[in-house]
Amino acid sequence: MNISVPRRVTKATAVAALAALALAGLTGTTASANPAAAAAAPDIPLANVKQHLTDLQSIATANGGNRAHGRTGYKASIDFVKAKLDAAGYTTTVQQFTSGGSTGYNLIADWPGGDPNQVLMAGSHLDSVSSGPGINDNGSGSAAVLETALAVARSGYQPTKHLRFGWWGAEELGLVGSKYYVAQLPTAERAKLSGYLNFDMIGSPNPGYFVYDDDPTIETTFKNYFAGLGVPTEIETEGDGRSDHASFKNVGVPVGGLFTGASRVKSSAQVQKWGGTATAFDRCYHSSCDTTSNINDTALDRNSDAIAHAIWTLSAGTTTPPPGKVFENTADVSVPDNGAAVTSTVNVTGVTGNAPSNLAVGVDIVHTYRGDLVVDLVAPDGSVYSLSNRSGGSADNIVQTFTVNASSEVANGAWKLRVQDKASVDTGYISGFKLTFP
Ligand SMILES: [Zn+2]
Repeated sequence: MNISVPRRVTKATAVAALAALALAGLTGTTASANPAAAAAAPDIPLANVKQHLTDLQSIATANGGNRAHGRTGYKASIDFVKAKLDAAGYTTTVQQFTSGGSTGYNLIADWPGGDPNQVLMAGSHLDSVSSGPGINDNGSGSAAVLETALAVARSGYQPTKHLRFGWWGAEELGLVGSKYYVAQLPTAERAKLSGYLNFDMIGSPNPGYFVYDDDPTIETTFKNYFAGLGVPTEIETEGDGRSDHASFKNVGVPVGGLFTGASRVKSSAQVQKWGGTATAFDRCYHSSCDTTSNINDTALDRNSDAIAHAIWTLSAGTTTPPPGKVFENTADVSVPDNGAAVTSTVNVTGVTGNAPSNLAVGVDIVHTYRGDLVVDLVAPDGSVYSLSNRSGGSADNIVQTFTVNASSEVANGAWKLRVQDKASVDTGYISGFKLTFP
């Protein structure tokens, strides 16, 4: 398999190629069979997501300015989302629970079909705090998950896995709804959950691009998507354990998700990376000003598309793998500006004899000026193979598979991807390094 993602390609093509990369993705130095390529996700229309936010704002306005647990605005939000899903062909269930003396509601929507023993789930909390309409927190995640679910229906997508979506109540009171859902789910049903993806605040007005550092395959899927857009990501630390994914993680379900920042202040380094200002990611966090004006459209658009990409990629399954052995390291290694060379290592084991004459070297480097970079493959005995020597000028990123004649090298051992930044100003990191033995 030769996956090349040149800079000027259509988004759909790049996403399809990256989807295949992501499917092969495993953290650390690991080996796996090559899975089949996944169908590409459709673009999620930003206008549709924003219309859902406008509707949630109207619900809050008509119900005392909020959509909080135990208030009329919350139940109206549940009814609004449920009606859209019912009309699209989903099987929906409203689950009731009690918290603080008030009835709470979770909404669960199953897309008919797929392997009932492999369930991929995505969710978001639908409640706001009582002090505001909660449009970024968490109308944003709720609207994007809703529109992704509707896109599944519009496209007639038939994934290998079974798809389920959830909207949680009373998250703001301590993850109450999602904890209740998980507690009610029989152990055998929990074991069928192959992953839970959580989206809580994905349109922050002064956004960062944060990926949860949890299940490696889910994390890699999101990181590859943003790398394909040329948008750098960071590991999410502000909200860790503070949203509904924790309820699933606590019972052993692989989890992941996206986040654009809450009340924490954006650092100057993050301003340089993402733009915006060195103020809170969301100055209206848990406030009355968390309205439809409190949304960054670009962040909402990118994150909505990333959700669809992950749903499509992770639900495709891994049927009919072609022969081949993949060794990959997806740990990020930062490349110092105009500094020393850094390396990412994969340990190849269990391959007899020498490496092939067509060794596929998958390189995923996120960088804002690829012409700064000298990139080499270093064999276990120290032999150096040049992959890219300050080529490509001012273009971003090196996301490419190189073919190397490595037939004079013993296959087993520690192979390194060596990257050195030889000029000032632009920076980046090694996002992934992969060797494929035919
Ligand atoms: Zn939230």
